[in-house]
Amino acid sequence: MNVPLKNVRQLESYVAGQWVRGAGKAVPLLDAATGEAVALIDASGIDFKAALTHGRTAGSPALRKMSFHERALMLKALGQALMEAKEEFYALSTATGATRTDSWIDVEGGIGTLLSYASKGRRELPNTRILVDGDVEPASRDNSFSGQHILSPLEGVAIHINAFNFPCWGMLEKLAPTLLAGMPAIVKPASQTAYLTELMVRRIIDTGILPRGALQLISGSVGDLLDHVDCQDVVTFTGSAATGRKLRTHRSIVENSVRFTMEADSLNATILGPDAVPGTEEFDLFIKEVAREMTAKAGQKCTAIRRVIAPRRSTEALIEALDERLSKTVVGNPADEATRMGPLASLAQREEVRARIKDLQRDAEIVVGDPDRPVIASGDAVAGAFLNPVLLYCDMPGAAEAVHDVEAFGPVSTILPYETTDEAAALARRGKGSLVASVFTNDAKFARDAVQALGPWHGRIMIGNRASAKSATGHGSPLPVLVHGGPGRAGGGEELGGIRSVKHYMQRTAVQAAPWLLSEVTGRWMHGAKARHDGMHPFRKSLAELEIGDQLVTASRTVTLEDIEHFAEFTGDTFYAHMDEEAAKANPFFEGRVAHGYLIVSFAAGLFVDPAPGPVLANYGVDSLRFLTPVNPGDSLQVTLTCKQINPRETEDYGEVRWDCTVVNQNAQVVAQYDVLTMVAKTRAS
Ligand code: NDP
Repeated sequence: MNVPLKNVRQLESYVAGQWVRGAGKAVPLLDAATGEAVALIDASGIDFKAALTHGRTAGSPALRKMSFHERALMLKALGQALMEAKEEFYALSTATGATRTDSWIDVEGGIGTLLSYASKGRRELPNTRILVDGDVEPASRDNSFSGQHILSPLEGVAIHINAFNFPCWGMLEKLAPTLLAGMPAIVKPASQTAYLTELMVRRIIDTGILPRGALQLISGSVGDLLDHVDCQDVVTFTGSAATGRKLRTHRSIVENSVRFTMEADSLNATILGPDAVPGTEEFDLFIKEVAREMTAKAGQKCTAIRRVIAPRRSTEALIEALDERLSKTVVGNPADEATRMGPLASLAQREEVRARIKDLQRDAEIVVGDPDRPVIASGDAVAGAFLNPVLLYCDMPGAAEAVHDVEAFGPVSTILPYETTDEAAALARRGKGSLVASVFTNDAKFARDAVQALGPWHGRIMIGNRASAKSATGHGSPLPVLVHGGPGRAGGGEELGGIRSVKHYMQRTAVQAAPWLLSEVTGRWMHGAKARHDGMHPFRKSLAELEIGDQLVTASRTVTLEDIEHFAEFTGDTFYAHMDEEAAKANPFFEGRVAHGYLIVSFAAGLFVDPAPGPVLANYGVDSLRFLTPVNPGDSLQVTLTCKQINPRETEDYGEVRWDCTVVNQNAQVVAQYDVLTMVAKTRAS
C-alpha cells in the first residue's frame, strides 16, 4: 500500500538533553482505523552509550540529591500538568485504534498512577534519601553490635522497553516508581504507537519539572543500548515472550547481573463458579466481564480474559448470552462516538491475530464472530485493522494444547468447560503462570479453594460477586496499589503494588555497626544509641530544635488495685484477668489479677506528656504496641521516651515525630514497648 507521507512529522528521540532525529530512513506509522500516516520513526545513528552516560552523570545525582518527599511532590506537579494537557493526548490516541473509554485507561489511568505514587510517596515514605527497611536486628548479647537493612537508589539508569498497547500508561506506571526511588529512566515505547508516548514526553520535558537527565526517550529501535548496561542499571520489558527471552539472555544483562523485569504474554483465565448458574447475579456479571474484557482496547490488553472456564452444564447458556452481547458491539472508527470497539493497532497485528485464531482452531471451534469478514459501522474497511470479537469453544480442554498456549492478542477468548472444581483449577494452571485470574462466585468455599489453587500461579486474583458488583474495578484493571505481574509465562516480573515497586529500583544493604553509629547512619534512633538529656522536655521543642535521641526519663507511678478496678468500671472492660483473682490465677500467663494493657499505655502518657500548649500538635497513633510483662497491683511503672525519627513535611509547617516509648517495672523489666506518633510544629510560637 502506498501511503502519502508529505507533511508527516518525524518523531524525535530525547537524548542527552536534546531532541534528535535518527540518521536513517524513517518508517511510517499508520492510523489504525484509516491507514493514513500519523508519523515517521527512526532512531538509527543515535549515540545510546552517551544517553546512558547522561542519565548516570546528570539525572541520577540530581534525583538522588532529592528526598522521597521532594520527588513525590515532583511527580504530583507532573501529574497535574499532564492532566491539564489530557485532551491533546486523547485526540492523538484515536490514531492507535483506541476509543475514548480505551484512551481513558491509557491516558488518565497513566496520569492517575503517577498521582497515586505522588501521594503514597508522601504518606508512606519518610522525607529522607535512604530508606530504613524493617526493624533493627540485634547481633550481640550486650547490644553493642546490631544490624539494620537500608535501601538506596541504584546509581544507573532504568531502561523501560514498553509494548504498543498502552503508550501512556505503559510508560507512566514504570516511570512513577523509578523516579520516586531516585533513578532516571530511558523510555523506549513500541514503535507502532510511539507518537503518543513522544507527545507525552514532550509535554513532560516542556514543564521543566524534571531535573536534567531524569527522562530520555528513544523513538525507534534501541540499537546497541543494551550492550552498555551495567550492574547499577535496570531493564524492564513488556511485550512478547519471544523478545523478552532474547533480551533477558542478552550478554551484557547476564554478565553484569542487570536487574531484568519482564511482563509477557499471559493466558489469563476467568472461572464461573458452580453456584453461578444462569439466572444468578454472578452469571450476569460474568457475561458482562467476559464481553468487556474481549472488547476493551479490542482485546489488546495483557490482562484480558483469554480462557473462559465454566461448568459444562452452563456453557450453552453462556455462548448464547455472550453471542447476544458481543453481536451488539459497534465496531468502527474510534473517532466516531457510536463506536464501542476500535480496530487493532495495525494491519500486521490483525494478521498476527488471525493466524493465532487459526492455531486455536486446532482445539476449538468458532461459536461467535468471523475473523475474516469484519462488520464495521464506520472507518476504512480496507486500510483499517478491524476485527469483530471472536469467541471459540473447546469441548475437551483437558486434552487440548493450543488453547492453553496460544495468545491471540485481540478480541478473542475461548470457552473451556469443566466438571469438577479441581478440573477448573487445573485448566487455569495450564496457562503456565498468568498475570490475573478471576472467579465469579457467591460461594465462600469455592472462592477459598480457588484462591488456594490459583495463588501460586497468578499475580492477582479478583473474586467477583453481587456484593462488589458496583464497585469492583474489574478483571483487567491493574491498580497502582496492587501488584501487577505474574509467574512463568507471564514473565516472572512484578510491577506496581504501591511502594513495593519503588524498591525494585533500590539496593538493599544490611549495615552492621554499634547501635549509636547505626543510628547516625540511618537517621533513626535505636536502643543502645546515644540519648541526649538537656533538661528541656522534648515536647517543648519544635522540629527545628528537636534532635534524634532527645530523651525523657519519667518519674515512677505505682499501679494499685483501685486503679485497676476504677479503670475497669470506667471503661467497661471488666475482663476476668483484671477483676477475678481466682480466674486470673488459673490463666497460664498470670499469677493473679493484672492491670489492663490500655491502663499501662494511659498511665505512660500521663507520665511523659507535657500538658502546656506547645509545638506538639497531635498524637495520631501508636505503632508496634506490645505488652511484654504482666503488671500486678503494687508494681510501679516508669517510661523512657526517646525521639526516634523526625520527618518534616515539605509543604506544611509541621512534621511527624516518632518516639520510642519503653515502659519498665520496678525490676527494670520491659512491660510495654511501642512507638508514639505525633505531629510537631516546625517552629515554636513565640
Ligand atoms: P515485541 O516483543 O515485538 O515488542 C515489545 C517491545 O520490545 C517494543 O518496544 C519493541 O520495539 C521492543 N523490541 C523488539 N525487539 C527488540 C530488541 N531486539 N531489542 C530491544 N527492544 C526490542 O511485542 P509487540 O509489541 O510487537 O507485540 C507482539 C505480541 O506481544 C503481541 O501480539 C502480544 O502477543 C504480546 N504482547 C504482550 C503484552 C503483555 O503485556 N503481555 C503487551 C503487548 C504485546 P519495536 O516496537 O520498536 O520493535
